[in-house]
Amino acid sequence: MAKEYNAVCSICGQRYHVCNTCKSMKTQKSWRTVTDTAECYKIYMTVYGYGNGTIPKEKARNILNGCALPKTFQPHIRTIVNEIRNPDGNT
Ligand SMILES: [Zn+2]
Repeated sequence: MAKEYNAVCSICGQRYHVCNTCKSMKTQKSWRTVTDTAECYKIYMTVYGYGNGTIPKEKARNILNGCALPKTFQPHIRTIVNEIRNPDGNT
C-alpha cells in the first residue's frame, strides 16, 4: 500500500506521512505533526528555543552537536542552524 505523504518536515523539508490519528491529536501535540523524525524535532525545539531566547547560543550549539543533523534544511532553518554553530560570526 502506498503511503500518503501528507506533511512536510519543518526542519529538513522532507515529505512524510502523518496518520490521521496523530493529526487529530490536539491535546497532546505529537512531534510527528511538526517533523518527520524525533531527531528533527530535537533540532526544531533547539532552533525555536534559541529564537525566542529560552536557550542560550552555547547550549543550543551543544544540543545541535549531539544531534544527527539532516543533509538538508529548510532555508530559514539552515540560516539559524549556521548561526548557532558559528561561534563568533565568521564564516
Ligand atoms: Zn526532518
